[in-house]
Amino acid sequence: MACPVCLQPTRRWIPAYQSPFIIERTGLPIQEARSYICQACEHVFITPFYTEEVLAALYTGYRDQTYNAARDRHEPGYAELAVRMADENGPDYALRRGYYDYFMKKFKDFDGDVVDFGGGDGYYSRYVFPKARITVVEEDYERKGGDLAATMAKAGVLFATHVFEHVPQPRRLLTQLVSLLRQNAFVYVELPRPYSGELEDSFARLERLRGAGEPLPFEDIVIQHEHIGHFSKKSATRLMAYSGVDVQEVYLHSEGIMGFLGMKRA
Ligand SMILES: [Zn+2]
Repeated sequence: MACPVCLQPTRRWIPAYQSPFIIERTGLPIQEARSYICQACEHVFITPFYTEEVLAALYTGYRDQTYNAARDRHEPGYAELAVRMADENGPDYALRRGYYDYFMKKFKDFDGDVVDFGGGDGYYSRYVFPKARITVVEEDYERKGGDLAATMAKAGVLFATHVFEHVPQPRRLLTQLVSLLRQNAFVYVELPRPYSGELEDSFARLERLRGAGEPLPFEDIVIQHEHIGHFSKKSATRLMAYSGVDVQEVYLHSEGIMGFLGMKRA
């Protein structure tokens, strides 16, 4: 299996669980899911890779009432969690704002164009870039008549938070987006970092459990759910480098967020 970040052949894998909610929502045929780790770049990814149809089924109407109710049936407590996550006065939003106050404060006066890729309602890009002209681009942007190439070409910043862990081919997507930017445009990528230690160590621990015939615990890296790619600092830095970005600053936040800020390579 080729690693979707560095394209090297990847042989280490362990069985993964398929989320019943995902199966119900997407009609994904039940087949053996696997979690792979790339020996070259440390990226962890889950197969079978989601198709365009699966992604559309998963993210059309994302976190609307129907979505939340269906997910709550499979994952009791989710509806309550969704309410908390949607509360702009709640702790999740406060954490992110504090994170941006520290890492992205240099953009407070940026008054150019920003593309918020996958930004939902655009709350965070408006917070980070209060003086900028912001365009939120969702996966249906072009189907709805948007001109992605023109929008990207005038952007001074590409802002993509919590996107690449959801897509099967993150390098392909980021390379395409970066190719549309002008030289020296900023690229900011933010990813979750749910591991207390190294991703490689977490994977090796699960391999040992499997080798001993133990059932694998339900952990992110062996569940085929929304997050189908899992990045470490190493693999995320490589994702950006291979996609044409020179990474200049990295921020690993203790509360499970990683931020990578760079510029399109000249
Ligand atoms: Zn790799």
